[in-house]
Amino acid sequence: IIRIRGLHKRFGDLHVLRGIDLDVAPGERIAILGSSGSGKSTLLRCLNFMEMPSAGEIEILGRTVGRPTGAQAGGERVMQYSEAELCAVRRSVGMVFQQFNLFPHMTVVQNVMEGLRTVKGEARDAAHAKAMRELDKVGLADKAHVYPGRLSGGQQQRVAIARALAMEPQVLLFDEPTSSLDPELVGEVLSVIRDLGSEGRTMLLVTHELGFAYHFASRVVFVADGVFHEEGPPEAVLKHPQRERTQRFLERFT
Ligand code: ATP
Ligand code: MG
Repeated sequence: IIRIRGLHKRFGDLHVLRGIDLDVAPGERIAILGSSGSGKSTLLRCLNFMEMPSAGEIEILGRTVGRPTGAQAGGERVMQYSEAELCAVRRSVGMVFQQFNLFPHMTVVQNVMEGLRTVKGEARDAAHAKAMRELDKVGLADKAHVYPGRLSGGQQQRVAIARALAMEPQVLLFDEPTSSLDPELVGEVLSVIRDLGSEGRTMLLVTHELGFAYHFASRVVFVADGVFHEEGPPEAVLKHPQRERTQRFLERFT
């Protein structure tokens, strides 16, 4: 469903992603681990083109995004993108952030409807009905008409998940969805994510919740120095890491 080849991302002189290759099959759940600043968020942001890759090929749902410019930066393939195809990609790849990024001046249901109205151009009634269904799934139908400021962090994050789901993305990206939550609120959000996994959704999750990653992920990747330093089944990477760098990273959590 996603195929990445030779993905590079630079911010000026800072070479953050240095040749990432990744194939994601439908229904896969990939947990992405790595130290702060290793480029995990940048990788997710490149996947829905909130950041433009500096080079490399990304194929989503069987279609290569962008066209090669012909430029080769040190063997890297530089692409150019059209606004129309980026819109299409952003519709099929949904994202949930650490900071929920809800609109504070809109009620919960308005937040969930917003993309349906503005991006998909759906009629108000249809968008409202769909938003209510998604809120029901995350257990928040009764909060539809309150403002986000009145909700707990865990509830706000579940609204953010409902908002992403309402767009019917083929792939969901989660960037540390529980990192800004009080410990007692983490569970309710992880449980929603777990349910999405059992529905067979394709998901990429950046997380420091190793216990959750172990049970949730079909595959774990450890990012270091801008590449996938180690990857494999959760059991292999988390319990029996082969590389020293991975071992050192995991030790900090025990
Ligand atoms: P964390 O675990 O702290 O969230 P991360 O692995 O998600 O870290 P990124 O946010 O992807 O790391 O950042 C990777 C590097 O790229 C960092 O050094 C960061 O400062 C830099 N960076 C990220 N976004 C930008 C930007 N828009 N402009 C310049 N530098 C950036
Ligand atoms: Mg990050």
